[in-house]
Amino acid sequence: MNSTLHIQGWCPGAWQPMASGDGLVVRVRPPRGRLTLHQALRLSRLAQVHGGGVLELSSRANVQLRGVRPERHAALLQSLAACGLLDADARSERLRNMVVDPLHRAGDGVQALALALHQALAQAPDLDALPAKFGWAIDGGYSHWLHGVSADIRLLRAPGVGSTAWRVQPDGLRWALAAASPQEAVAAGMALARWFAQRCDQLRALGQRPGRMATGAQELEIALHHPAAGGSTPPSTAWLAGLPAGVKWVRAESAVPAQAPERHLAGQALPGQVPGVGTLVAAPLGRVPARAWAQLVRAARSGGATGLRITPWRMVLLESGADSAGARDAADQGANHSADPPSGPHWVTHPDDPRLRVSACTGATGCPQAHAPTQALALACARHVPPGAHLHVSGCAKGCARQAPATVTLRAEASERGPVWAVIRQGIASQVADERVEESILQDNPGLLFDPH
Ligand code: SF4
Repeated sequence: MNSTLHIQGWCPGAWQPMASGDGLVVRVRPPRGRLTLHQALRLSRLAQVHGGGVLELSSRANVQLRGVRPERHAALLQSLAACGLLDADARSERLRNMVVDPLHRAGDGVQALALALHQALAQAPDLDALPAKFGWAIDGGYSHWLHGVSADIRLLRAPGVGSTAWRVQPDGLRWALAAASPQEAVAAGMALARWFAQRCDQLRALGQRPGRMATGAQELEIALHHPAAGGSTPPSTAWLAGLPAGVKWVRAESAVPAQAPERHLAGQALPGQVPGVGTLVAAPLGRVPARAWAQLVRAARSGGATGLRITPWRMVLLESGADSAGARDAADQGANHSADPPSGPHWVTHPDDPRLRVSACTGATGCPQAHAPTQALALACARHVPPGAHLHVSGCAKGCARQAPATVTLRAEASERGPVWAVIRQGIASQVADERVEESILQDNPGLLFDPH
């Protein structure tokens, strides 16, 4: 366990980049989770001109440029503003921390709700006390894939109740606010956010850390005047200021009528066609050379794609409207599919590609906290990871690339003889190691970790 672990209490943005071992990390938050083809091409260009020529997809559905030289930051901001990829200021950027369901359909209200929430957040004068990582998720209800994305407040579309009905659920609470329209849903979410901001202020005044919404769930239960366990009486909304009349608490488990996800959207998110929406294409380890990004965008444009949606699964969705066949062809072209089956070197287009079974953080030398490089090792081991298993390679105990347990997690540790790898089975990077292996042994025999003998 690394006792000097540095926990970052905020997320980098464009206005507030994070210093890293290879320069600044500038994180761009695409408006409502979508890039026009022009914006996507501009990002590729900017990554090459101002940064290290690589684009990364984050687990918050953002795109980040690494290796930006500090003296280029101001020029980069100007360019981002010119193509509509910069918030008015750092405050607006910080508050607009939302993941928008990339599987949304035309007219389902997801984009309209995201826009309304964006505007409400930009005009809210009383949310400055929210924790820096406070975030939202807008879920169209087409899959379970967004359930694993962290969000302090989740807005879930409730098809079956009506095309505009929404449930607004604070993280950790067994109740959700039922809203009959996007306007009501935004008002309900903002009321919850204001309540939590006031709570944060009060806790800080007492010298305590406010934590996240989930840590206040018990207090919220009490505020709701709801019996701590097992009760079923809908609680009062009277204490929550700013709620529209008619918005009521409902039990979260019955908040949304059974929405069986479409069959092709069951399980985990995988590359492939999403009928009526487009084509999902994954970036190995969430990193893509900027030139390969541009190649994909141009090919997608030729194939009829209308834009790129950035997902929280380290994939992009090439929008194609009703016919996604053109976008799939574009992805395969952009991935140089024919040169390196089943997928290309820079993009993963097939669901059985072993690179989907590995994750790795930035590692050395990009991250100053890393005890070793991580990404080459993860890719070298990928074809030895059996289907259904997952290998996570982490440069330290923080485990930035994956918070969920993995079949095997490798955690780099410093030793007198150089980096050594702590092996954690069915766990996360901060847990006690089952064994330790030297790097040279892994390099000589990358299949060792999953060898039953
Ligand atoms: S997990 Fe990786 S990226 Fe995160 S702090 Fe540790 S070494 Fe750096």
